[in-house]
Amino acid sequence: MSNPLYDTLFGCHAEKATPFLHLADGITWTHAQFLELAAQYAHVITDHGLVPGDRLAVQIEKSPQALALYAACVQSGVVFLPLNTAYTVDELTYFIDNSGASLVVCDPARAATLGPVVAQLGAQLATLGADGSGSLSDAASGKPTQFATVARTGDDLAAFLYTSGTTGRSKGAMLTQDNLLSNAQTLAEVWKFTADDVLLHALPIFHTHGLFVATNVTLIAGGAMIFLPKFDIDVVLDRMADATTMMGVPTFYTRLLGDARFTRECAAHMRLFVSGSAPLLAETHDDFAARTGHRILERYGMTETNMNTSNPYDGDRRAGTVGFPLPGVELLITDPATGAELPQGKVGQIEVRGPNVFKGYWQMPEKTAEELRENGFFITGDLGKRDADGYVHIVGRNKDLIISGGYNIYPKEIELVLDEQPGVLESAVIGVPHADFGETVLGLIVPQPGATPDTDGIAAAAAGALARFKHPRKLIVIDALPRNTMGKVQKNVLREAYADTFQPAT
Ligand code: ATP
Ligand code: MG
Repeated sequence: MSNPLYDTLFGCHAEKATPFLHLADGITWTHAQFLELAAQYAHVITDHGLVPGDRLAVQIEKSPQALALYAACVQSGVVFLPLNTAYTVDELTYFIDNSGASLVVCDPARAATLGPVVAQLGAQLATLGADGSGSLSDAASGKPTQFATVARTGDDLAAFLYTSGTTGRSKGAMLTQDNLLSNAQTLAEVWKFTADDVLLHALPIFHTHGLFVATNVTLIAGGAMIFLPKFDIDVVLDRMADATTMMGVPTFYTRLLGDARFTRECAAHMRLFVSGSAPLLAETHDDFAARTGHRILERYGMTETNMNTSNPYDGDRRAGTVGFPLPGVELLITDPATGAELPQGKVGQIEVRGPNVFKGYWQMPEKTAEELRENGFFITGDLGKRDADGYVHIVGRNKDLIISGGYNIYPKEIELVLDEQPGVLESAVIGVPHADFGETVLGLIVPQPGATPDTDGIAAAAAGALARFKHPRKLIVIDALPRNTMGKVQKNVLREAYADTFQPAT
């Protein structure tokens, strides 16, 4: 009788009395304390009638309690479903309804608004925190600190994770114990995590990056985490001295570089900085190396597959690339029209296969069949190519590809040119409907603070750098790019907002 995920991530540490979680306020938790709370939660979850395979939806702020609910689910065989803390009640209604969660745990502040929705959907609600009767904490306090771990196989579901919703409505990805375990093992090995590691953890834990990369890798290696509620630059600068590694999204690194207090000395003792979830600009990679001597290790993954590729730990971490497929992961670049593999250097859709690839989208058999081939390859929706040395380059998303007058245009190539122009902070290039060309190129530019970019000059510079069919037909200066909570640019929002730019007025 075993439960591979619980045994490997949690159970094996039960006896450890060394600090495992270091919180912002200086409080620490040992593995033993943490697992006792998780066992108590497992009792509460099963008292609510949940059985293995049922879903527990969790929308609470990042805390040891939130993480203990994850451990409790794994231990009791209940499927863990963490939800973005920024979601509104309307959004939550969709996720709770879609997932068929039987129990929802939220912070007390949300209970009043969420209660009626949860009741209407036939689920139960529990709150976390000492808010009087019925709270999970109250219920847990009287429970035994041991729980008989429920046997599971590697093929059993461990978690549902909804995708970030960058390209449309979020989809529920079904992840098995093996998916999570294989990835944690591989990453811990290639990134050389050990029990001596202390990870500076400032990511959210409702997303694959903060939960299944950062947390699982630390847990499997038996290391510790400095567990911060969010990326607060003052706190991060203060606590980095106690860490050995950090994982972040690109904005963490640009924010560090934007702060003069972040010096070579601050990072001198660090072993590794990892970036993912969105493209890390080569400029950020180079500036970080110049400032600290560390080359940020960029990797590539997604909710459905955990991590697919990584730059080498030992060896050349190549800026602007996501490195090589991880051990056990096969990666193909294929022609979107035929599915045939393309030669090196050609841009095509990225497909991956391996023990990391999910079981499918919850209650979306057609979508699953469209993206998960019978031969096990998952069509990621990303476009990429391999360079002559085999490094994988992400070129953008299939849905963002612009097809203008029969030409394929990759927005990133144009964005890189626009981003370099004076007064430009960042840019987004999209395809918008055009009577003659089907689609044409529109460039949206966000100015640097206080700057007024010269759009004619920028257009001329772009014309000098790019083939004619790629020239932005128009450049528009806007205040900010729309982003989701993971910091990803929502191009579908922009495409909708600017759809009529070249349409004849009606
Ligand atoms: P949705 O699928 O709902 O539209 P999403 O794809 O943004 O949202 P996630 O699973 O959180 O949801 O993100 C995975 C995507 O993030 C990848 O498909 C890829 O486009 C992008 N990504 C992740 N890492 C990198 C990276 N290092 N460089 C470029 N893009 C990356
Ligand atoms: Mg996606």
